[in-house]
Amino acid sequence: SNASPPLVRARGVSKTFGAHRALDGVDLDVSRGEVLCIIGPSGSGKSTLLRCLNQIEKPEAGTIRIDGELAGYRQKGDTLHELDDRAVARQRLACGMVFQRFNLFHHMTVLQNVMEGPVTVLRRRKGEVRAQAQKLLARVGLSEKAGAYPAQLSGGQQQRVAIARALAMQPKLMLFDEPTSALDPELVGEVLGVMRDLAASGMTMIVVTHELGFAREVADRVVFMDAGRIVETGTPGEVLGHPTEQRTRDFIAAVL
Ligand code: ADP
Ligand code: MG
Repeated sequence: SNASPPLVRARGVSKTFGAHRALDGVDLDVSRGEVLCIIGPSGSGKSTLLRCLNQIEKPEAGTIRIDGELAGYRQKGDTLHELDDRAVARQRLACGMVFQRFNLFHHMTVLQNVMEGPVTVLRRRKGEVRAQAQKLLARVGLSEKAGAYPAQLSGGQQQRVAIARALAMQPKLMLFDEPTSALDPELVGEVLGVMRDLAASGMTMIVVTHELGFAREVADRVVFMDAGRIVETGTPGEVLGHPTEQRTRDFIAAVL
C-alpha cells in the first residue's frame, strides 16, 4: 500500500542549553490530520520540542522535515550543511503557533490582529484578507468582537483570537503550547471547544496540555515526555488508561 508520508518527521532532535540537555534524541512522526497531545512534567522539554519543530530554536543535532521538506539545513550527500534561511522561513510559516500567553497586538482591533500577518508577511490583498479574517472570527465565535481591542476581551476570547490569527496564515499544522494554562478555569472550555472543532475539521495538531480530558477525547495519539525524551507513546486509552512506565503513571496521578 501507499501510506502517505508523515506531515512531520523529526529524527534524533537534541537541544542543549549550557550543560543542560533539554531534548535528547527525540524521534516523532505526525500524520496528516492527526491530533497529537504531548504531556509531561515541567521542564521535560515539551516547549523546546515545539520551538524546534517551528524553527524558533535550532536543534544542534537531528533533522526535522515538514511536508517532506528538510528545513534548517542544506543537505549535500549524507551531510547537513549550513542553514537554509528560506527553508527555515517556510517551515516557520507552515506551523501556526498558539502559546500560553496570547501576545495579541494591543493597539490593534481583533480584526486587525487577524489580518496583520497575511497582509504584512504574506503580502496578500487587504479585501481578500478581511473576508477571510471575518470567516475565521465567525469560526471561533467572535464575529461581534471584530472591532474590539484585546483589553476589552476575556482571556478565553483573546486566546480564540490568537487561534484565528494563527489560522489566518493558512498553516499546514497547528502547534499549541499549554493554550489554556493561563486562563481562569471557567474560560478553559470555550478554547478547548474551538480546538475540538479544529481537530474535527481535519487540521493536523500538536497540543502540549495538562487537560487530560481533552487528550482522552480528542487526541489520536498521546506522547509522554520526561527529561528531554519521549518515554511512552500510544493511543489515549493506552498512555492515559494503561501506562506502562512508572513515570507516566506518577505524572498522570499528579495531574488528576
Ligand atoms: P517544558 O515545556 O516541558 O516545561 P521546556 O522545554 O520549557 O520544558 O524546558 C526544558 C528544559 O530546558 C528546562 O530545564 C528549561 O529550564 C530549559 N530551557 C528551556 N529554554 C531555555 C532557554 N532559552 N535557556 C536556558 N534553558 C532553557
Ligand atoms: Mg513548556
